[in-house]
Amino acid sequence: MKKILVTGGAGYIGSHTCIELLNSGYEVVIVDDFTNSVMEPVKRLEKLAGKKVSFHEVNLLDKEALDAVFKKEGKIDAVIHFAALKAVGESVAQPLMYYKNNISGSLALFEVMRDNDVKNVVFSSSATVYGDPEETPIKEDATVHATNPYGHTKSMMEQILMDTSHALGWGVILLRYFNPVGAHESGEIGEDPEYPNNLLPFVSQVAAGIREHVTIFGDDYDTIDGTGVRDYIHVVDLARAHVKSIERLTGFDKGTLIYNIGTGTGYSVQQMVETFRQVSGKEIKVVIGPRRPGDIAECTADATLANKELGWSAEYGLQEMIESAWKWQSKYPNGYRGAK
Ligand code: UDP
Repeated sequence: MKKILVTGGAGYIGSHTCIELLNSGYEVVIVDDFTNSVMEPVKRLEKLAGKKVSFHEVNLLDKEALDAVFKKEGKIDAVIHFAALKAVGESVAQPLMYYKNNISGSLALFEVMRDNDVKNVVFSSSATVYGDPEETPIKEDATVHATNPYGHTKSMMEQILMDTSHALGWGVILLRYFNPVGAHESGEIGEDPEYPNNLLPFVSQVAAGIREHVTIFGDDYDTIDGTGVRDYIHVVDLARAHVKSIERLTGFDKGTLIYNIGTGTGYSVQQMVETFRQVSGKEIKVVIGPRRPGDIAECTADATLANKELGWSAEYGLQEMIESAWKWQSKYPNGYRGAK
């Protein structure tokens, strides 16, 4: 494996993954249409890695343009596919937009891969495919039953890739991420949501004085302190899981491998806020609100399979996740919009 095409490489997880790929000696081709991103992280990741990527501004639904990228780039050894819409609430309100973007976009990508004889793919899936799990920590063989259109697009993509791998002899790795948080240790790239839907970016903005308080969505769950428990994973650890997956696909003949990517340790909303207070030294006002529809009490990963088969495990703990998130937030209070 030498040349890796990354869709959504300008995004949060994509940009961190591109750095790790460059640092590991891979050539990187990025395809991104800036739907939820900008060019700035690409420039910064090149600077951080001290290497260039080949960048193409293309929407995956534009199959002709995508095919031209594959033809121009020559031999692409594998694709890491991140590009997708990812807001759960928005997916409930606009399912057709989600199915069109995430499913039709991916189908176009896979057809172009087939036409250009590219047979390896690492897919950005999510723990959301498990829905409300019967047991935690969750193992990869747990039942898949997503509970919202965003989650459905992820489980449908998984199915499409499994079928394609079977029919066309592709090597496929499905990575089911738990809750990615944090930023690059330099503080130069990080999560830059227009409006934060997820807990940590929200808490981060409250600590920075951008928002007044964080609402805790329910404190009557059957958990350690009544608030929701999740398995937070440092985005750099997650990025490295992709590099390990590319290595795993080298010489792997065909078939689909599925791995949970989390630390195996769960933290409650209260614990996250408290750690953020300690790290930032800022006051973080919380208000207890009602449960958010669709939320579950607890979701943690059993990631032993990734450890065994990919040789991957999380290196960073909660402290590093929050320190890096705070560094990025403090350095760039307006995300990439504040960039000079
Ligand atoms: N949460 C919260 N307030 C917020 C955002 C999230 O209390 O403003 C809680 C949410 O109910 C869940 C946890 O924080 O228990 C993580 O939520 P997030 O949206 O970050 O990720 P999810 O696991 O839902 O995908």
